[in-house]
Amino acid sequence: MSENRYDLMILGAGPAGITAALYGQRLGLTTVVMGDIPGGSVYMIHNLMNYPGFLGGVPGTQFGTVAFRQAQDEGAFFTMTRTKRLECRNDLFTGTDVDGKEYSAPAAIVATGRVPKRLAVSNPHIVGMHFCSLCDGPLYRGKNATLAVVGSDNAAAQHALTLSRVASRVLLICRGSTLKMDAAHRKLVEAKEGIEVLMNTEVIDLKGEKFLQALVAKTREGEHKDIPTDGVFLAIGWTPSTEMLDMKVETTDEGYIKTDARLMSSFPGLFAAGDVRDTDIRQVLTACADGARAATHVLSYLGDQHAQVKRA
Ligand SMILES: Cc1cc2nc3c(=O)[nH]c(=O)nc-3n(C[C@H](O)[C@H](O)[C@H](O)COP(=O)(O)OP(=O)(O)OC[C@H]3O[C@@H](n4cnc5c(N)ncnc54)[C@H](O)[C@@H]3O)c2cc1C
Repeated sequence: MSENRYDLMILGAGPAGITAALYGQRLGLTTVVMGDIPGGSVYMIHNLMNYPGFLGGVPGTQFGTVAFRQAQDEGAFFTMTRTKRLECRNDLFTGTDVDGKEYSAPAAIVATGRVPKRLAVSNPHIVGMHFCSLCDGPLYRGKNATLAVVGSDNAAAQHALTLSRVASRVLLICRGSTLKMDAAHRKLVEAKEGIEVLMNTEVIDLKGEKFLQALVAKTREGEHKDIPTDGVFLAIGWTPSTEMLDMKVETTDEGYIKTDARLMSSFPGLFAAGDVRDTDIRQVLTACADGARAATHVLSYLGDQHAQVKRA
């Protein structure tokens, strides 16, 4: 057996990937995690408040570091590199990292998360631009803040509703002339005091030295205007990270990997966990749960494969 051959290969070292590794190792599967940042997106979480077991929350960095150590202590191997390509040859998944090093396993879990679509602005590192209202909305509680949400779909509606609990004013800013959200969300938004909808308004830049002060918007008539805002939450879409998959896998129109009840994708032996998967809630807790479930189902899958080979 080659030194780079494992029972289970995991792509991505966020909460889903790390938990899958922890479970995989504890279930007796030799596990390699091909991921660049141990902890993944949790490093962007200032204080993780909605994960049980931590009174007062836990800094995302601490959560990520400890979870990473835990999986390492169980014996999982982390490459600490990004995967360039994952292919399947003769029922064996082979992952090639950016340095050209190859790792292989008969089952793989894709846990590579997703990246938010961004606005092309002149100051992309400005403080006050957010992507997660559940996570960052509470930063504005009790500050008499005006917050803006850019977008018009159900996700934008959810952001606006969440933020209406912490801000005194929420502006829902839509580029087009129609809202893309469904009737139920529209009704909730319209009924909520404190949410104002600005149609035909395109955000073209953000103003402020270090901290956000205003959005620069363009109206349908081509007029430019400043909209004073303390924080802006972008809901203009996400891109699931699946570009490394060199195989045909069924996805949603947005590119999220579709899975069955075992979290296996349409490609036999390839599982998906966490934010990259077609799912309804994308949080640390649900990503961890996905990782645990996927690794456990990998064990059954490998057992079934083994039984079939023995019978043949
Ligand atoms: C700013 C922000 C704040 C948030 N706050 C909260 C919060 O307070 N509470 C909460 O529950 N959730 C919060 N979330 C959501 C939460 O972080 C995610 O739901 C969770 O991290 C998803 O875990 P994951 O493992 O599926 O993906 P991720 O955590 O995104 O991890 C995926 C990892 O895969 C890596 N990867 C991608 N492509 C490759 C490749 N080709 N090769 C190798 N590695 C790759 C990525 O770099 C990343 O490290 C927040 C998200 C953001 C962005």
